Amino acid sequence: MKYSPTRRPWRRADAEATELLQRWVAVVICWALAAWAPRAQAWGDEGHQIVALIAQHYLEARVKLRVQELLATDDSGLVSDHSMASEATWADRYRDADRDGSRLQYEQTRQWHYVDIELQAPSLDRACFGHPGLPPAMPASAGPATACVVDKIEQFGTELRDPGTSPEERRLALQFLLHLVGDLHQPLHACDDRDQGGNLKQVSASGMRAGNLHHYWDMEFVRRLGEDPQAASQRLLARISSSDIEAWRRGGPADWARESFSIARSVGYDALPRAVESGQYRLSAGYVRDAVDAVQLQLSRAGVRLATMLNRGLRQ
Ligand SMILES: [Zn+2]
Repeated sequence: MKYSPTRRPWRRADAEATELLQRWVAVVICWALAAWAPRAQAWGDEGHQIVALIAQHYLEARVKLRVQELLATDDSGLVSDHSMASEATWADRYRDADRDGSRLQYEQTRQWHYVDIELQAPSLDRACFGHPGLPPAMPASAGPATACVVDKIEQFGTELRDPGTSPEERRLALQFLLHLVGDLHQPLHACDDRDQGGNLKQVSASGMRAGNLHHYWDMEFVRRLGEDPQAASQRLLARISSSDIEAWRRGGPADWARESFSIARSVGYDALPRAVESGQYRLSAGYVRDAVDAVQLQLSRAGVRLATMLNRGLRQ
């Protein structure tokens, strides 16, 4: 509507000024929140996005279409869009959605993201609570809290392949798989030194903000691959050979867990320097280089294996 002098212009001008002020305040608040918000969350997402983008590259055309159709039915509002890369972060958002409230989703699903194989006495079976299995007729998405990432990947993979799975459960299975296959390939999601998978060890390295060891593996080493997941995934894709694909497609989640554990042991823990007096570990350039190499390898393996699972599960 155009300005009209007959409609008490001062009031109009006043309203406009108020609106301008409100907008300005909103902009300042948004800016302040963006500057304050921890960037860590975004880097945690980046690893998952890279895995999904690599997987997407290897999907059969028909499967890619099925994936798009299923993800389009996600009305949770927890992710920014329905692309594979965004939906690969959904399971973390779902877990954390009621973390400060009822904690039902949080407590039910938090253990599904890792498998704490103890460094000193490694046992996959113990880390998976003896593989209790799902109660009869219970969908995997409603499964008990005491389940490790290895068993959840098996259960959701089975649901994806089963023609009797409901469309809703099939989408949930897909959303969990997009995320959990990535988590299993993060070495410190498959290993524990009685330090909550590295969360209790404080580390620092040149050019990186001090933090805990788990955070470094979740985010800081991934960050070294660049800030754009799309570009990072393209660089990794260019290095994956057909013999890599053939080798990585073998085995299943239990083998991938043992492989992840062995990288955590050799590159993550054995290579740690002696802690300084404050208890902090100062990582050498060599440690960081080997860790970044391991992260690249694991993201690539996860992408190829995720694609293989989706192709097998959604081909029919
Ligand atoms: Zn996770």
